[in-house]
Amino acid sequence: MDDLAWLRLACELAALCPPSQTAFSVGAVVVGADGREIVRGYSRENDPHDHAEESALKKTAADLRGTTIYSSLEPCGERKSRPLTCTDLILRAGIGRVVFAWREPSLFVEGQGVERLLAAGVEVVELPEPADLARLPNAHLL
Ligand SMILES: [Zn+2]
Repeated sequence: MDDLAWLRLACELAALCPPSQTAFSVGAVVVGADGREIVRGYSRENDPHDHAEESALKKTAADLRGTTIYSSLEPCGERKSRPLTCTDLILRAGIGRVVFAWREPSLFVEGQGVERLLAAGVEVVELPEPADLARLPNAHLL
C-alpha cells in the first residue's frame, strides 16, 4: 500500500469512533519501514479521553523508530484532556514520519502539531486528498 492507501485506512478508522460533541473523531495507523502495519487505533477506542494516535501507541511495545504514522487529523500539539499531546507521544516513540489528511481546525485548541513535529526533525507530509473522508465523522462539529 502507498501513502494514500494507508491514509485512507486511517480516515476510515475515524468512522469507528464513539461520537463526541467535544472532541474530533480520528483514526491512526503505524506502519513499519518494511511497509507492514504495526498497530492502529481511533479516538475514544478504550477510554473517552483517548486520542487516535495515543490509542494506537499504547497498544504496542514495538520499537517505533523509523516508522510512519498515518493520521486522519494533524496530531494535536496542545490538548485539554491529558498532559501529553499526540505530538509528544510521537516524538517520544521516535516515529520519523507523519502523514495526515486534515489540518486541525482551531475549534477546541490551537493546532501547532505540524510545527512542533517539523521543529523536532520529523518528516511531515500533508496529503489532503482524503480530507473529506476525515471530516465526515466530524460534520456535527464543524
Ligand atoms: Zn491528540
